[in-house]
Amino acid sequence: MEVAEFRIKRLFLLAKESMDPDSPMHGLGKRYVHIAEEISSHYRIRIPNEIRVQICRSCHNLLVPGINAKVRVVSGKGYVAYACECGAERHIFYK
Ligand SMILES: [Zn+2]
Repeated sequence: MEVAEFRIKRLFLLAKESMDPDSPMHGLGKRYVHIAEEISSHYRIRIPNEIRVQICRSCHNLLVPGINAKVRVVSGKGYVAYACECGAERHIFYK
């Protein structure tokens, strides 16, 4: 695996950990996402898809259901809607 890709994945693990209110890194989530995005554009590698779908496009928060995101399934249209605390919604199609 590329070193840069490894670093991006590591940063997202940290971002996820920082969502825990008891974590000493609490509140640093956006910062980790920002660094990961800079690495990805610097090395011209894509953030892995499974990670990219968890980032809010509008405020670059990591979306964690139950913490800062509300998830609802729109089964008629075949997608899951992730509503970020900033008000933006992401639609993840599963069909
Ligand atoms: Zn947002």
